[in-house]
Amino acid sequence: MLNIVGLPMTEVEAALERAGVEGKSVRMRARQLWNWIYVHGAQDFGAMTNLAKDFRALMAENFSLARPRIVTEQISSDGTRKWLLSGGPGVEFETVFIPEEDRGTLCVSSQVGCTLNCRFCHTGTQKLVRNLTPHEIVGQVMVARDALGDWPSTKENRRVTNVVMMGMGEPLYNFDNVKAALTIVANGDGLALSKRRITLSTAGVVPMIERAGQEIGSSLAISLHATNDALRDQLVPLNRKYPIAELLQACRNYPGLSNARRITFEYVMLKGINDSLAEARALVKLLAGIPAKINLIPFNPWPGAPYECSDWEQIEKFAEVVNRAGYASPVRTPRGRDIMAACGQLKSASVKERASARRILSETSDVISP
Ligand code: SAH
Repeated sequence: MLNIVGLPMTEVEAALERAGVEGKSVRMRARQLWNWIYVHGAQDFGAMTNLAKDFRALMAENFSLARPRIVTEQISSDGTRKWLLSGGPGVEFETVFIPEEDRGTLCVSSQVGCTLNCRFCHTGTQKLVRNLTPHEIVGQVMVARDALGDWPSTKENRRVTNVVMMGMGEPLYNFDNVKAALTIVANGDGLALSKRRITLSTAGVVPMIERAGQEIGSSLAISLHATNDALRDQLVPLNRKYPIAELLQACRNYPGLSNARRITFEYVMLKGINDSLAEARALVKLLAGIPAKINLIPFNPWPGAPYECSDWEQIEKFAEVVNRAGYASPVRTPRGRDIMAACGQLKSASVKERASARRILSETSDVISP
């Protein structure tokens, strides 16, 4: 059975043709399905009451609308929710919903595990298992809407108002799937979140940044965390490949960049490592001329982490330097720490199977995703 959640419109059309839907009506049918799936959150074809019975039956025979399976759901004392989802045997990934007064942000994963090994990040201690598919990326938003009673997508007072690609993984190392998924998230007849409410965060995959702007067009966030290459090489090893100067040049060239559409620079506060006031001054100097927001993130600890969070007093002093330079620089309040849902705390138990084991698993698996 083909799961059509996460398929581009053109592929839905092709699938309908293969299933025998008459040529003339394919386009219209695909649009109707799309509307039921992404605007109304339909979970079975029977609910699509304005579609002919025969058509619904044909759909139910051929296609599935299943979401990634929820393995666990945890709710933090501050209202943050974390779902552990499964994309099949040995493939588990996390999604976090962060409710705030004026918005609700869903933190979405792009990979199971990660290749980047940032020293302060828990996900970085988990080897890459695999890229998530468009189905699994879009599915994270759908699971959240299901659980929060957040359908239809177009209603007022939605709970999920923003999506940030800041969960597990490096989205620019899974470009095609992330792009396919975000195209559906941003589509007005899809999950209907405008591109400015979608933020893609990268550790700095320089050659992909321009393409991201052109082809995805979301807001951009950069995990900067250091103001010189010597330190950034250690914290974010990807810096050895794409040093700060090249990264910032790519930022200056980001399509659509303006004072109304600024790049967010994330800076994790590590005690005694990158939190001196000299570094605060270096940070504002470095970003001069780039329409930027600065997001100071208190380091979130995890078992065995080699760092500590900066003292609150130091974070405030650091923020003051940044503020005086004209940046609003909100310090990101840690959310969901008690359920290990805060920035950089995500990690699943999934490990990369040996290819032979994976073949056996996939042969016995009854979960088929596109
Ligand atoms: N790979 C992408 C997406 C992950 S985003 C990227 O690097 O941008 C996750 C954000 O949380 C990044 O800014 C990351 O640097 C930050 N982060 C990672 N570990 C953290 C921790 N322990 N405490 C606070 N922030 C952390």
